[in-house]
Amino acid sequence: MAEKKETPMMAQYRSIRRSLPEEIILFFRLGDFYEMFFDDAVRASNILDITLTKRNEIPMCGVPYHAAASYLEQLIKADAKVAICEQVEDASQAKGVVRREVTRIVTPGTIIDEMKLDDKNNNYISALFQSLDDSLGLAMLDLSTGSCWIEEPKELSMITTIMERYQPSECLVSEEQVSLFESVIQQSITTCEHWQFEYGNAEDRILRHFNTLSLDGLGLAHSSVSLSALGALMSYVQLTLHRKLSHLQAIQFRQSEDALFLDETTVSNLELVTPLYTQRSGQKNTLLQIIDTTCTPMGARLIREWLLRPLNQLREINQRQEAIECLIQQQMLLSEIRTFLKEIRDMERVMTRIGSASSNNPRELQTLSKALQQIPHLKKLLVDQGTQLEVAAEYLEAIPSLTDHIDKAIKDEVPLHLRDGGVIQDGYNTKLDDLREAASNGRSWLATFQAEEAEKTGIKTLKVRFNKVFGYYIEISKSQLDRVPEHYQRKQTLTNAERYSVPELTEYADRILGAEERAIALEQELFQILKKETLQYLQIVQRNAQQIAYIDVIASLAERALTLDYVRPIMSEGTDIKVEEGRHPVVEQLMEYERFVPNDSILNQSDHQLILITGPNMAGKSTYIRQVALITILAHMGSFVPARRAEIGLVDRVFTRVGASDDLARGRSTFMVEMQETANILNQATNRSLIILDEIGRGTSTYDGISIAWSVAEFLTKDVSFMPRTLFATHYHELTDLSDTLSQVKNYSVAVKEQGKKITFLRKIIPQAADKSYGIQVARLAGLPSVVVERAESILASLEQTGQPEKTALRTVRKRLSKIAQDQNQLDLL
Ligand code: ADP
Repeated sequence: MAEKKETPMMAQYRSIRRSLPEEIILFFRLGDFYEMFFDDAVRASNILDITLTKRNEIPMCGVPYHAAASYLEQLIKADAKVAICEQVEDASQAKGVVRREVTRIVTPGTIIDEMKLDDKNNNYISALFQSLDDSLGLAMLDLSTGSCWIEEPKELSMITTIMERYQPSECLVSEEQVSLFESVIQQSITTCEHWQFEYGNAEDRILRHFNTLSLDGLGLAHSSVSLSALGALMSYVQLTLHRKLSHLQAIQFRQSEDALFLDETTVSNLELVTPLYTQRSGQKNTLLQIIDTTCTPMGARLIREWLLRPLNQLREINQRQEAIECLIQQQMLLSEIRTFLKEIRDMERVMTRIGSASSNNPRELQTLSKALQQIPHLKKLLVDQGTQLEVAAEYLEAIPSLTDHIDKAIKDEVPLHLRDGGVIQDGYNTKLDDLREAASNGRSWLATFQAEEAEKTGIKTLKVRFNKVFGYYIEISKSQLDRVPEHYQRKQTLTNAERYSVPELTEYADRILGAEERAIALEQELFQILKKETLQYLQIVQRNAQQIAYIDVIASLAERALTLDYVRPIMSEGTDIKVEEGRHPVVEQLMEYERFVPNDSILNQSDHQLILITGPNMAGKSTYIRQVALITILAHMGSFVPARRAEIGLVDRVFTRVGASDDLARGRSTFMVEMQETANILNQATNRSLIILDEIGRGTSTYDGISIAWSVAEFLTKDVSFMPRTLFATHYHELTDLSDTLSQVKNYSVAVKEQGKKITFLRKIIPQAADKSYGIQVARLAGLPSVVVERAESILASLEQTGQPEKTALRTVRKRLSKIAQDQNQLDLL
């Protein structure tokens, strides 16, 4: 029985609802609202904190369509997905129920128009796949900019790193491989059927998209498992999310080896892009914050990318260096370039928004036009500059016909929404001008009419007014009713007044209203034509955006090199790292009262392969070893570096094991984290790697700690075919004995000046082992109460006399080590 009572609209709702997966909330457009029903309504009203009502026992709630953006944002943040179902025909033309269709599905990876995306970051959506032979494939797509790449990582752990680095909002995997990927990534997983990842399906889809016959032309012939991932991702975006992919113009195939590899721990420990601790406002703790003075969002995204994926090829590094050098030598040119760049806003994302049907913001076209207008200036400045800057300038292409057209069409001061009218310039379209004139003449006619009627009737307070129900009418207050002429027709009685219509007014009002409405409709039509024309230049705009990003990053690095006094490092295929008067790029900027003390560094594969740095806490050991890593990374990204002179032999990976951080969220203790990170380094490092080890073995007892630190150091130096350049900071002085037997190991320490019981840190690295640990002096510096410090001194004195615990520990370690070595030899002999 209940079925029978159901309205046709409700039947339509149910059929659309049935076509969608249960977890998706359906926004069902009804006039000016998106309504939600049943469970959707209950869930959404909870998340959005809006009223849940009931009609015919059906729970429902709704949000006004023009404010939908902020509600969508809240839902997405609460991990929901939303299907938008629009009325796809004009309600007044519809026979029966208005036709409705799901026009798109909004998910974290596809919320482009609604959410104010952080313009310094990309918003990626990704897919992962493992083929039958266990190869791994990955596809990444940023729907807001159209940038897309695929990669075939060698190990699952690399996937973790890539996902952590690019932070895709969503990750698509086959329903059969959820458990495989769930264990290695933190991102929210979306599943689809396994066949979507079939290679044939993918190839077909990609060839159709690019309208070509073979993958060779796209440079993708050798990638198969990553293409499977891309194919599935493209169909998810197109079919499930109803998104067009027209702005996807090129796919980049990335070799996992074609960059300096930085694992997630290193990126985080070195604070390349995110600070380890909460930052004080205004304080700059990350390397990115120090080196990024880009002027455009495209540049900001690219410099981040360069920092997280530095190069490992000399030729490319040199090209970047030359471009930077070129601008450093012409400071006027540099500042002119940056002046033009500052006028350019996010043309990449604007283009995507213009491409989406729901976006009708006239200011976006203006943003684009303004950006494009800077291009001739940039081109002129760069065209004779040689280097990659000239190549970039050659690819820049102004589109004068489009910018002229936009500027002619759109008013300088425009409203945010097209629906308000007043967007198109006067004089652009004669029909529009006529309609506007009719509407404005109408308004002056109304004023005259009101004055004349007041005069004729003698009612001074007579007013011509407007509302949606009656249109224009005359309002007369109760006290004047006796003067109302006979031909006035009464429409409505209010407490203090009466409302009348007069045929002459009604007739004229229709003409005014008609003209206003038609003017707005025509504006919309003209605007759509302009949008369409703009979209024809999609490819050129994207290419421009890429070149602008490049120029912006080079200019930013040049500006930084000048301002912060960086030098161009000499890069080589060799294995030496020599830095003269190197500085820590972030710490030197944080110094307020002290001067940063520069230090030299030498690393090679002969007598300086493992540098052991000892010295008291707070002396500057960590700063020093990180500084070498940061200089090396900056050099590989093509940047200049904070030093007086630097020679850097190429590195394939940088590893760090620093600080002690509990990963309580994952239930790992400090020591466990430390050992897992160390294990990872020992297993993954190669002969070409750079390793930074800070206080290995600290999280356990002294004996265990020394043993582990000792054997790690040995492991890293004992094999001539495996000589990663290593900086090893430790407070275990016993380790300095390693240099007695291993010529690759060199002892360094941070100089300390001792005056009586007090010490001063000189911050200078000197080529000798520290003589003592100065623990008690540091405790005094830290402000420990003097009774405690004095008591500690006397305990230490008695320990040194009687037990000499440090030496005993070392003897024990040595004994154990030689025992282990003996056992090993015996095993080998068997
Ligand atoms: P350690 O690792 O030896 O405990 P840190 O490297 O953490 O010491 O350094 C402690 C502090 O000393 C830093 O926060 C910084 O303020 C200061 N510092 C370190 N190196 C230098 C330097 N070269 N010049 C000036 N100050 C420095």
